[in-house]
Amino acid sequence: MPQIPPEAMRFGKLVLRVVGFGMFLFGAVFLLVGSWFGHDYYKVSKRWMPVDAEVVRSSVWEDPMRDSEGERIYQAEVEFRYIVGGQEYITSARSFIASKNRGQMEAKVRDYPPGSRRQIRFDPQNPGRISFDAEGDTGAVVLVVIFGGVGLLFTSLGLVMIVKFRSKRTVQCTSCGQFATAGQRFCPNCAAPLPIA
Ligand SMILES: [Zn+2]
Repeated sequence: MPQIPPEAMRFGKLVLRVVGFGMFLFGAVFLLVGSWFGHDYYKVSKRWMPVDAEVVRSSVWEDPMRDSEGERIYQAEVEFRYIVGGQEYITSARSFIASKNRGQMEAKVRDYPPGSRRQIRFDPQNPGRISFDAEGDTGAVVLVVIFGGVGLLFTSLGLVMIVKFRSKRTVQCTSCGQFATAGQRFCPNCAAPLPIA
């Protein structure tokens, strides 16, 4: 069996550990985004209160920033009039889901024509904060599941690689040149005592 020099072995393992660490970071970012979405979704659909509201205006909102591929991101922006605790609020909010597909957001805007009435949700701690489409949006749930799943997959794969390819120190037999794992007392090739690493 040809011997792989310990330097090459160590370098190979280092590369695999770096790859594993990259995968772990990639997964961690996905987990973070997923839990942020999930927390937002949970907060709005479970903690915010429903209220009947009238659509004042609706339009497609274009993000002035571009995404990492230089493409435009769109959201539906809808302004609502509603009453909480005897006080009237006029608040605009953007859709929970954003899209690169302007047509998708135009279709959403058409679902909210001015004068129509919708049930929206408001933050009981600040009734000026509203959400009109997070609840019942399967896209939001799918996003949470996808981001959470990809995040878990990559963080675990990354961790496994980091652990599996951690470097073991090696010692070289002074009699025959065989490499052995540090801590072994005798050469696996010629049984000569190995130097203490
Ligand atoms: Zn030996």
